[in-house]
Amino acid sequence: MKRIKEIVDFIRILYKQPDGFIPLHAPVFNGNEKKYLEECIDTTFVSSVGRFVDRFEEEIADYTGATKAVVCVNGTNALHLALLLAGVKRDDEVITQPLTFISTANSILYCSAYPIFLDVDNANLGLSPESLSNFLKTKTEQKSAGCFNKLTNRRIAACVPMHTFGHPCRIDEIVDICRKHQIKVVEDAAESMGSYYKGKHTGTFGEIGVLSFNGNKILTTGGGGMMLFKDSELARHAKHLTTQAKVAHPWEFVHDEMGYNYRMPNINAALGLAQLEQLDNFLQIKRRIAESYATFFSNIDVKFVRESKESKSNYWLNSVIFENREYRDSFLKYCNENKVMTRPAWELMHRLPMYTGNQCENLSNAEWIADRLVNIPSSVIY
Ligand SMILES: *Cc1c(COP(=O)(O)O)cnc(C)c1O
Repeated sequence: MKRIKEIVDFIRILYKQPDGFIPLHAPVFNGNEKKYLEECIDTTFVSSVGRFVDRFEEEIADYTGATKAVVCVNGTNALHLALLLAGVKRDDEVITQPLTFISTANSILYCSAYPIFLDVDNANLGLSPESLSNFLKTKTEQKSAGCFNKLTNRRIAACVPMHTFGHPCRIDEIVDICRKHQIKVVEDAAESMGSYYKGKHTGTFGEIGVLSFNGNKILTTGGGGMMLFKDSELARHAKHLTTQAKVAHPWEFVHDEMGYNYRMPNINAALGLAQLEQLDNFLQIKRRIAESYATFFSNIDVKFVRESKESKSNYWLNSVIFENREYRDSFLKYCNENKVMTRPAWELMHRLPMYTGNQCENLSNAEWIADRLVNIPSSVIY
C-alpha cells in the first residue's frame, strides 16, 4: 500500500495536480483549432467539401511518408475498408492479436471473416513474429489461391498487427513472413501516430496502414481515421469507396459499385490540421513525461514499458506492469478512488462472447500482460 501511494503521489507531482482529477489522456487545443473551425463556419464548408480535407490528407501523407492518405469518419471504419481493399472476403480468415482494442477484431467480423488470435511479444506488446511464423509453418499450407488454414480449410487473407499504446511491434519481420505466405498486412497504427520502427513511420510497412483521431488519441479530429497507402491506385479506389462510389459528374448521381459514406467532414479535418501542426511539440512533451516515469519506476518493483532499441515510440499511453494481478488490482482501486485515472489493458479478444469460438494458439504472453498491465496518466502537459 505504501508503494501504491508513492506512485500516485509521484503522478500528482508530475501533473502538478495536488488533489484534483487527473485524466488518462485529455486532448490539448493550443494551436489554430479555433481559427480553422471559424473558417469552416464562415465559408459554410463544414461538410464533405472543403480545403481542409485535402490538406489534412496531404500533410499526413507527408508526415508519415505514405504515398497517399485517405480520411475516414473514424479508425474503425478505416480498418473495415482497409481489410476490404486488401481483398478480405466472406469466410476468409484474418490473423490478429488478442491484446487490442475491440475495433481490430470487429473490423474483421464486419467483412464476415474470422479472426485467428496469435500471441504478442512481451517487450513491445504487439504481434509476435515467432508465433506468426510458427503458426504459418505448422498449421497452414500454400495453394495457388493463397495460404490456407489446414484446420478449417479457409483462406488466410490478411494479418492485422497492432502497435500497442504507441510502441511499434517488429513490423518488418511480420511483413516479410506474410509476404512469403501471400498474406496482406493491414497495420493497425491507430495508437501510433508519430511512432517509428527502424526510422520508418508506423502504418507505412504493410499494404495499408490505419490511424485513428478519436478524442483520446495523440491527435484528435473529434472523431476520425485515416488510411495510409504505398499504392496510389489502391488509394484512389479507397477514396472512391469512402464517397459512396459516386462517379464524378457535374450534376448526375451515378454510382459504379457498392460504396460507403465513410468520408471525414471538413470541420473534423480542420481540427486535425491544427492538431498536426502541434504534433512534434506533443511528441517532445510525451517523451519527457515518459522519461520522468522511467526514472521513477527504475527504483521500484513495478516495470515501466519502454520503447525498443529499434523503435521510437510516441508514448501515447504510458504503461506499467505489476508483479501480479492482486497488486495490479489494488493499484487500480486506489488510483480510481483517489481521482487519478488509471485503466487495465483491454479484456483479451478471445475472452469476449463474440470471439470465444475463434481459433487461438498459445496466448501465454497476452494473458500474462492482461493480468498485470495498467495505463497511467499520459496527457500532454502545458
Ligand atoms: C482507437 C483505436 C482504433 C480506432 O478507433 P476509432 O475510435 O474508431 O477511431 C482501432 N484500433 C485500435 C487499437 C485503437 O486503439
